[in-house]
Amino acid sequence: MNATLSPQRTFIRPAVALVSALSACAALAAPAAAAAAVPDVPGPAGYPTSAVVGGLSGEPLDCARLKCVALTFDDGPGAYTDELLDTLAGYDAQATFYVLGSKVAHHTDTLQRMVEEGHEVGNHSWDHADLATLSADAVEKDMERTNEAIREATGTEPATMRPPYGSLDDTARSAIDQPMVLWDVDTLDWQSRDADTVTDVTLDETAPGSVVLFHDIHESTVEAVPAVLKGLHRQGYHFVTVDELFSDGMEPGDLYTDARL
Ligand SMILES: [Zn+2]
Repeated sequence: MNATLSPQRTFIRPAVALVSALSACAALAAPAAAAAAVPDVPGPAGYPTSAVVGGLSGEPLDCARLKCVALTFDDGPGAYTDELLDTLAGYDAQATFYVLGSKVAHHTDTLQRMVEEGHEVGNHSWDHADLATLSADAVEKDMERTNEAIREATGTEPATMRPPYGSLDDTARSAIDQPMVLWDVDTLDWQSRDADTVTDVTLDETAPGSVVLFHDIHESTVEAVPAVLKGLHRQGYHFVTVDELFSDGMEPGDLYTDARL
């Protein structure tokens, strides 16, 4: 553990990592749902967006003083990701996408759109390997291959990474030179596959500085996002990227779960 951390950064506790790893295990096990017709989901008329309160108006949000939350979406891009981007745009909400390198080449337009619309694209490994089972050399190659795919697609460097299943050991950690990001709110969206449940869990468990885990490969998750944005906005939250949430900066090789005060 690094004693130089500010109290705004919370390091992962081993028990949390284990529970998180178990809960995220089934995220990829389910067969991909067939692509459905995706309706436009604009924000409601008159909805006060973050642009109105400062998010996109030029001034960076001060998450040390304001209620900020980072919504994060793993395992994509997928069939519902563009619909999700439409929804986020309707609310001027920023999010972070932890993408699989193996999917990047098939979704170059979607990745470019993420970056253009102010979202953060992070590294979630090439193909969802459990990094704790790999050699240091294999982890390093996996990270670099994925970073390179994101770089090629977007022209930007992924600022952070998230280990699949939240699983890391000392060998993997030593081979990763990006900040590693877990979460403090697990929506268990892969398990419930129910938009109302995903919404309820998110609204109940989010605190200022939370990092919330979703998977945009599930239609029910994408269906939940309008109510999530509406509900959290009513509670006074601003929707920022992971990079923005940790406003004091993040150190390569350090592990973060949230920026709760
Ligand atoms: Zn994942």
